[in-house]
Amino acid sequence: MTIDWTMIRTGDADTLHDTIVVIAGWMIPLDPQAGRADYFLLGADEPCCGGCVPRNPSMSVEVQAAVPVALQAESVTLRGQLVRLLDDPAGWRYRLIDAVLLERPAVPLRSFSRRAFLASGAALGLTACAPGRFAGYTETQDNATPVAAGNDKPTWQAPAGTLTIDMHTHAGRVIVSRDPAIGARRPFVPLAKPMRAGGMNVVCLAIVTDTTVTRVSDNRKRFEAWREPEPGELYALGQTEFQRAHQLIEREQMRVVTNAAALSASGALGPCVIIASEGGDFLEGRLDRVDEAYTQYQLRHLQLTHYRVNELGDIQTEPPVHGGLTDAGADVIRRCNALGIVVDVAHGTYDLVKRAADTSTRPLVLSHSALASHPGARSRLITPDHARAIAGTGGVIGVWPSSGTFKDLHGMAEGVKRMADLVGVEHVGLGTDMLGFISPPVFRSYEQLPDLASALLLAGFSPAEVGAILGGNYRRVFEASVG
Ligand SMILES: [Zn+2]
Ligand SMILES: [Zn+2]
Repeated sequence: MTIDWTMIRTGDADTLHDTIVVIAGWMIPLDPQAGRADYFLLGADEPCCGGCVPRNPSMSVEVQAAVPVALQAESVTLRGQLVRLLDDPAGWRYRLIDAVLLERPAVPLRSFSRRAFLASGAALGLTACAPGRFAGYTETQDNATPVAAGNDKPTWQAPAGTLTIDMHTHAGRVIVSRDPAIGARRPFVPLAKPMRAGGMNVVCLAIVTDTTVTRVSDNRKRFEAWREPEPGELYALGQTEFQRAHQLIEREQMRVVTNAAALSASGALGPCVIIASEGGDFLEGRLDRVDEAYTQYQLRHLQLTHYRVNELGDIQTEPPVHGGLTDAGADVIRRCNALGIVVDVAHGTYDLVKRAADTSTRPLVLSHSALASHPGARSRLITPDHARAIAGTGGVIGVWPSSGTFKDLHGMAEGVKRMADLVGVEHVGLGTDMLGFISPPVFRSYEQLPDLASALLLAGFSPAEVGAILGGNYRRVFEASVG
């Protein structure tokens, strides 16, 4: 398709990664005297002089031509394969490879003096044409500055060094389809682009390994297990889903965070992922599979249970069978502590949480829920005591955006406030469970993150507290657990 420079500037062209595009612009060669070049920049604007070569990555694209192209003074139209670049040493965001010229204007390139050209820093980049406007463009800065809000609502300016982290998500549509005709062929949806647009740095991307044995009940609009899995079935599903998570990450050119140092660096790397599993069902009770997932698939966040009463313990949405955490569940927690995996007790019963808190030597996470004074039977909401048990480990509770709990982002922010008033703001986080709800939640895209931050400010949190809720608190637990 034909793209324009707006798509380059806004990053909308990210969705065209690896596709053939047509784009018009001005050729800016490294050596204007050469006559032909197979490597040059394509700029949005006509170069005004040798000393004014654009190096703004939003206004130029690196080009590798299929064959050397005669240099042109007029604008040209190129067709090639667009590649979105991450962490490019010269700072470029896009490259056009195997490019061919579609138009050949007769006028040859106006001659810059070679001296002026070299002095311009055009050899991929020393000085900028308009430093006040373009210098200092970085991914980090982009991410740290939320989209400006309207006049009527405050804009959150992330304090320096803040990382925003979603404790629980299925974004990118990583989970296989329950429809066997689709299964693991389910198409992904973009993840990095909305993260970038909203300023979300890191997401805990959760696979699910009970999907094939759970379903949405007809009348109650909730998930339930409906059959026993075959031996090996959920292990195989785990393999498939871990592989899908890594396929998505590769497709989106994202980075996997596996330790505290990588997490610290993630702000400068663009959108990053912590590999997580919602449910330890793929373990099928085998402790060695925790090690296997840690090593083979970089698992760093394990939620013990989901919608099936598994080998590790009881769940909120079914009557208790084990009296809480099983001995196998306690062994898994100790193994996670030893290896460096965050332990998540979302979906587990209060009894499970109490034994988990006694067992774990690291803070616990309860990644997605909300507070209720008297949750109904099979509710996923938690009581004040349930929440205090997590906070007592130094852990974090992720407040979710369920539309069954909150009517909008302001309601959600008030829910965060109630949780913080109960357990302390240092124990509250964000768990969007994106693409995990039956009904659309009140937070549906990372592009809404500035609006959520704004709602948290309006709910009475300081900018630093908003930073703690939107990532700092989970970061503390990750560092304490993973090292
Ligand atoms: Zn869940
Ligand atoms: Zn989920």
